[in-house]
Amino acid sequence: MVSPSENLNLNNMYKNVLVLGGGVAGLQAASSLRDLGYRVTLVEKGEKPGGHLNNWDRLYPGNITSSSVIDGYLSNSQGIRILTNTTIKSALKSDKLLTVITSSSEEITVSAVIITTGFSLFDATIKEEYGYGLYNGVITNADLESLFISGKIHNREKPSRVGFVHCVGSRDDKVCNRHCSKICCMTAVKQACEIKEIWPETEAFCFYMDLRMFGRGYEDLYYEAQNKYGVNFIRGRVSEVGEDENGKLVVKAEDTLTSRPLKISLDMLVLMSGMVKNPDNKALSAIFETSIGEDGFFAQPHPIVNPTGSSSTRIFFAGSATGPKSVAESVNEAKSAALSVHMLLSNE
Ligand code: SF4
Repeated sequence: MVSPSENLNLNNMYKNVLVLGGGVAGLQAASSLRDLGYRVTLVEKGEKPGGHLNNWDRLYPGNITSSSVIDGYLSNSQGIRILTNTTIKSALKSDKLLTVITSSSEEITVSAVIITTGFSLFDATIKEEYGYGLYNGVITNADLESLFISGKIHNREKPSRVGFVHCVGSRDDKVCNRHCSKICCMTAVKQACEIKEIWPETEAFCFYMDLRMFGRGYEDLYYEAQNKYGVNFIRGRVSEVGEDENGKLVVKAEDTLTSRPLKISLDMLVLMSGMVKNPDNKALSAIFETSIGEDGFFAQPHPIVNPTGSSSTRIFFAGSATGPKSVAESVNEAKSAALSVHMLLSNE
């Protein structure tokens, strides 16, 4: 005898769904759809699934390794067809189906698409005043994570002082990114604590406009950074970075709490590059007849009551395709988008 849930899965098994993007949102969406009984193809333009998590060491809260999150999804990916090094070239709508053509000229006919193409990291060389690419001591948040993953951080000479610049490429009209990237205050504080774990005598300084520690436990991390690790927080924007004759970084800022200009010598400066639109959004929006906002992220017709919906019936979004999100938020949205697909398709 077939149970109601098995019956539901049998009905779904002839319906194909495409998930576009193999980051954490894409992996979760594909897994949820597969569990609901759909045949799922996940298309990833990179060499392997995992997205930005492939380049990130540890996540907060929980101190969980990014690699364990990706491995968890991949070890449970049976039944999901994963195409890497693949993009979508076009899509043709007909009645209740979409036929997409991939970069390898394969035709895939699906009943719905979830776009989970995420974000790009802001290119820190655009902010020339911070000296990224000019001075060896200036790195980005992503570079620091790579040093943590590879262990090469331990090959570096112990720095006396390390600085973290918040809001690099975010909340900045000059680079046309007015939005807050949401997670980089937490990342800066997390990374400052990690630096202090490695080199307890190193002094750490966070230069912030205002701290946005929005998530559960984030405020605790902020207190821990001050009380346990002795991280210094300076409210002020860095205006200029140079290098002295000894190769030390010279950082000029204004302490906006004391209204005093500040000049500090550092060995390492970490730029918190923000989350910006994926450059593919415009082309994908034309292919799938969806909308994008002024910030270049995909736009939902009703971001409050239908955050995973699009202006096109069979197209859904999840994760940072619609704006900066934490990993946990992306996972939640992916589950929600899979359910939205199911609600649409199970009524047809
Ligand atoms: S989360 Fe913090 S560092 Fe990131 S853009 Fe917002 S205010 Fe700036």
